[in-house]
Amino acid sequence: MADAVTTSICEEVTNVINKLKTKKTLRKPPEEWKCGFLVSRIPKNASPYLESFELPLEMPIEHWGQDYTPRGPLSADVEAAFTGERILVRLTVRAEFSVPCSRCLRETGLAIIGSLRYLFTLCPSKDSHESEEPDEPGDGFNSDDGDVDVIAIDVFQLELDMSQYVWEVLLLNLPERTLCSESCLGLCSVCGRDRNEGGCECREDYTDPRFAALRDVNL
Ligand SMILES: [Zn+2]
Ligand SMILES: [Zn+2]
Repeated sequence: MADAVTTSICEEVTNVINKLKTKKTLRKPPEEWKCGFLVSRIPKNASPYLESFELPLEMPIEHWGQDYTPRGPLSADVEAAFTGERILVRLTVRAEFSVPCSRCLRETGLAIIGSLRYLFTLCPSKDSHESEEPDEPGDGFNSDDGDVDVIAIDVFQLELDMSQYVWEVLLLNLPERTLCSESCLGLCSVCGRDRNEGGCECREDYTDPRFAALRDVNL
C-alpha cells in the first residue's frame, strides 16, 4: 500500500517536472517576426513613410516574474522620415494579454500601447559610432515628445529591421502589476480564498494582532 502511494507521488512529481521542462515562454523577439522596411522607401522630402505590421505572438512572455499570455497578434506602426542624413522612426506597439491579477491571481485582460522614437544615424561603416545629441528634426514630423535613442547604422544598409525595437517597446510597456478591478479584494491572508467570491469562515475569527486590544472594548 505504502509503495503504491510512493509510486503515485513519484509520478506526480515527475509530471510537474516535465511540465516545467516543457514550459515555453518568450524571452526575445520571435525569429518569425518580419518587420523590416527598405530605407529607399522613405521620401526624401521629410514627409514620413508609414507602414503597419501584424506580428504573431504565440507564446507567453515572461517578464516581472510572471507570464503575459497573448490574446492575439501584436501590431506595430512605423513612421519613418529623413531628418538631414538621419532617419527618425516613431514606433507604436499595441498588444493584448491576459495576466494574473496582482491581488487575487485571476487571469485579467491587459491592453498595452506604447511608443518610442529611434534616430538612425547613417555612418560610413559599422565600426564608427556617433554619440552626439540629435539635431532638430525637419518639418512634417512631430518629434517633441520624449527622448530619442540614437543608433548608428551602415550607410549601405538597405533595410531597417525593427524586431528588436518592437520587442523593447513591448517590454517597456508591460506593467509590473495588473488589477482585475481597482476594488479587487484579493485573497484571504488566512485561508487563501478569493475574497471577491464571498467571505470565508476563518475571516470572522481572524483579528489582526495589531487590533487585538480593541476586541474587548465595549462601545
Ligand atoms: Zn483581482
Ligand atoms: Zn479565509
